[in-house]
Amino acid sequence: MNILVINCGSSSLKFQLIESGSEEVLAKGLCERIGLEGARLVYQPKGGEKEITNAEMDDHKTAIELVLSSLVNPETGVIRDLGDVGAVGHRIVHGGEKFAGSVKITEEVIQAIEECNDLAPLHNPANLIGIRACREIMKDVPMVAVFDTAFHQTMPAKAYLYGLPYEYYTAYKVRRYGFHGTSHHYVSHKAAELLGRSYEETKTIVCHLGNGASICAVQNGVSVDTSMGLTPLEGLIMGTRSGSMDPAIIEFICKKENLSVDEVMNILNKKSGVQGISGIGSDFRDIIEEMNKGNDMAKLTMEVYCYNVAKYIGAYTAAMNGVDVIAFTAGVGENNPLIRKKVCEYFGYLGIEIDDLQNEKRGEDLVISAPQSKVKVMVIATDEELKIARETLANI
Ligand code: ADP
Repeated sequence: MNILVINCGSSSLKFQLIESGSEEVLAKGLCERIGLEGARLVYQPKGGEKEITNAEMDDHKTAIELVLSSLVNPETGVIRDLGDVGAVGHRIVHGGEKFAGSVKITEEVIQAIEECNDLAPLHNPANLIGIRACREIMKDVPMVAVFDTAFHQTMPAKAYLYGLPYEYYTAYKVRRYGFHGTSHHYVSHKAAELLGRSYEETKTIVCHLGNGASICAVQNGVSVDTSMGLTPLEGLIMGTRSGSMDPAIIEFICKKENLSVDEVMNILNKKSGVQGISGIGSDFRDIIEEMNKGNDMAKLTMEVYCYNVAKYIGAYTAAMNGVDVIAFTAGVGENNPLIRKKVCEYFGYLGIEIDDLQNEKRGEDLVISAPQSKVKVMVIATDEELKIARETLANI
């Protein structure tokens, strides 16, 4: 069956068409600047060139119509007609406490997702627009919602409660939720497979280091703790997000810089992290380039970043009373051997040794720890779209 995976943002829409039997990506692409000037569709069929089409897209419905017409285009399309789309899987950012797994989309489900909107005001409404637009165009096609938060619903209360008045949890559901769940689930499962161990008997720490970044402790097949919180701002230092810090800093900066809370929140989300410390940018390729030129701020940013990752690994090793596998994934985790090496240098006491030759290899899932290393360290390419397609197939 062909499954269309949709990831809808406020002005963008990413898609992949995946054949569920072979798990091959038949086509992929994205619509950018939906509802804005200069909108464009990028479409790439399997084995073919990327096509870029500038086209007006007033809304997400128009964007989806354009995607579907590309998929059935007689020349570069990959299916004959829309009847060849068997199901649609939607990535949804926040499922609150309502969703501990993927679900087939019904009117009640849409309503329940809507009720989570205040937990993710930037993301969930956009995800819902995508669902509604697809339901309008593909009336009889079954659709499944796959949540970023669902995998972490197994966390115990001791991991998800903040040190706040308990009423904030009961009244407003203020607690840790965690994100990147699809990736943490996929990668931790793959790690156990690669190791030839039972998933249900393995302790894994997944380091999802992309632009957004989070770490997850997966014990015996379930998430027991993760670094992102009520929102994706908590935890690691990220590309442009501050990650965890003293909450009193917000008031302090408001007063010093004469800014509103909203303005400071914008700085914490968009102008902090790697970009904020380095003053160079949020992309680690630029940081490495500057390090190689001897830029001290680039070196300092690298030190702060790796120390931060290592502290979480230490914490989650304690939380699980041990660790069997540390898996690095996402843009930085998959492509940056220096960060992997520097992070692992903190764990000599765990008996971790990195095989430098393996660590420098690219493009395949592999073990990068030396054979004698007590804890196995791996690089695993995450594939959130494939995981969403699998969840969709399992839930229609
Ligand atoms: P997201 O999905 O959160 O937007 P990604 O997982 O794509 O982010 O990660 C993006 C980051 O990965 C980039 O900002 C860059 O720092 C890093 N990255 C991507 N490719 C490479 C590479 N070849 N070498 C080093 N870093 C890379």
